[in-house]
Amino acid sequence: MAMGTLLAAEVPTDIQRHVSLAPYTTTRVGGAADWFATVRSRRAVVSALGWAADRDLPVAVIGKGSNLLVDDDGFRGLVLRLAGALSGISLRDGRIWCGGGASFPRAVQRAAASGWGGIEFGASIPGTAGGAVAMNAGAYGTEVVDVLEWAVVCSAEGHDVRGADDFDFAYRHSNLRPGEIVTLASFRLHEEDAEVVAGRLREWRTHRRDTQPQGVRTFGSVFTNPPRNGAGRLLEAAGCKGLRVGGARFSPKHANFIEVDAESRTADVVALMAEGRRRVRAAGGPVLHPEVHYLHPTRGMIPTPLPELS
Ligand SMILES: Cc1cc2nc3c(=O)[nH]c(=O)nc-3n(C[C@H](O)[C@H](O)[C@H](O)COP(=O)(O)OP(=O)(O)OC[C@H]3O[C@@H](n4cnc5c(N)ncnc54)[C@H](O)[C@@H]3O)c2cc1C
Repeated sequence: MAMGTLLAAEVPTDIQRHVSLAPYTTTRVGGAADWFATVRSRRAVVSALGWAADRDLPVAVIGKGSNLLVDDDGFRGLVLRLAGALSGISLRDGRIWCGGGASFPRAVQRAAASGWGGIEFGASIPGTAGGAVAMNAGAYGTEVVDVLEWAVVCSAEGHDVRGADDFDFAYRHSNLRPGEIVTLASFRLHEEDAEVVAGRLREWRTHRRDTQPQGVRTFGSVFTNPPRNGAGRLLEAAGCKGLRVGGARFSPKHANFIEVDAESRTADVVALMAEGRRRVRAAGGPVLHPEVHYLHPTRGMIPTPLPELS
């Protein structure tokens, strides 16, 4: 059924029309979703996904939008955001259970304060637990694949529980498809002196402060690191530090971050990414691959669309 033919009475009250997605991302840029729902239970997730499936609407889930570019023209489908019971955190006998919408750094703090280590790598990854699973997020030599025990995944058909092996995790990659939403994840912890954990967190926070842009809008790493190389190093060597398109520029502090100002559009960010990638290739480097996900108006969540490079 085409979107224009939906009658107001057919739309559940918790599904909103024309909601700007910019406030739900760390860059604060991008257009609006035609349909948007904040869901607070597994049942609500399945029901909203079923509603969209019945109407052939594409779907996407948004976490903290910390690794996400939304097209300036927005999205012609339904976007779900997890809240309420789906953003809870609880410590359970050497594990931490996180709702898909739970803040991952908050889970780290919660574990650390009770003398549990294992997920400290997530302290400065400003996303949700669900986003961390989807991206196989990681830092300082540890990734989600190393600590995930299982996750509950919802779709329009219902839900299932998947072990870490079921996600085909690779560097910043899982096999989750559009319409598959992590609503709960269990991470393994180990007992550790709270002071030791706190010390590690302090050290890594200081390292971040010294090496990455602070107090500006970014979306984390722009490109994944090629094997045995650093995307930041390659971009810097190709003269990209400080390079600007419109309201977006490669950070003068770390070239694999793009700083986005209030005047920026997503198109500026994409054009800047394309230019940085072209320069690295022209300088004899590898073709860089975007780490950041992209919400396309009709194709949904896709790799950030950049021109082909040979
Ligand atoms: C300052 C800064 C530093 C960062 N540092 C790191 C770092 O060190 N390491 C690192 O790995 N990343 C880093 N990131 C990137 C980002 O924080 C991670 O990728 C994070 O895991 C994304 O989570 P999110 O909730 O924000 O997901 P979003 O950006 O909202 O979405 C990203 C993808 O995950 C999917 N997704 C989100 N929630 C769910 C869910 N519940 N179920 C299924 N799919 C879902 C989305 O559909 C999308 O495809 C950084 C970002 C910033 C801004």
